[in-house]
Amino acid sequence: MLKNCEWCGKDFDANVSYQIYCTPECRTVATKNNTTQRQRQKKAESRKGKTRLCSTCHTPLSIYNDDNFCSNCIGSKKDYKKFLRNIK
Ligand SMILES: [Zn+2]
Ligand SMILES: [Zn+2]
Repeated sequence: MLKNCEWCGKDFDANVSYQIYCTPECRTVATKNNTTQRQRQKKAESRKGKTRLCSTCHTPLSIYNDDNFCSNCIGSKKDYKKFLRNIK
């Protein structure tokens, strides 16, 4: 039966009805990714109730933010790096 890979979205021919990934590679990566996501979730939960502020602009940070910068400042940080690269 034709199914859609849960990870890469490619259509594949599933041998068994519960197969959700097209290749063992996709399954491995997806499983690993789920674990990382769960760890992130745990980390985020532990940040609940604590106020963290962006090191640059002092905007309160989301509990899902692993950095010490808000998304705005991360954006400009990236731009800054790009800017530096372009000079060279
Ligand atoms: Zn796949
Ligand atoms: Zn900021």
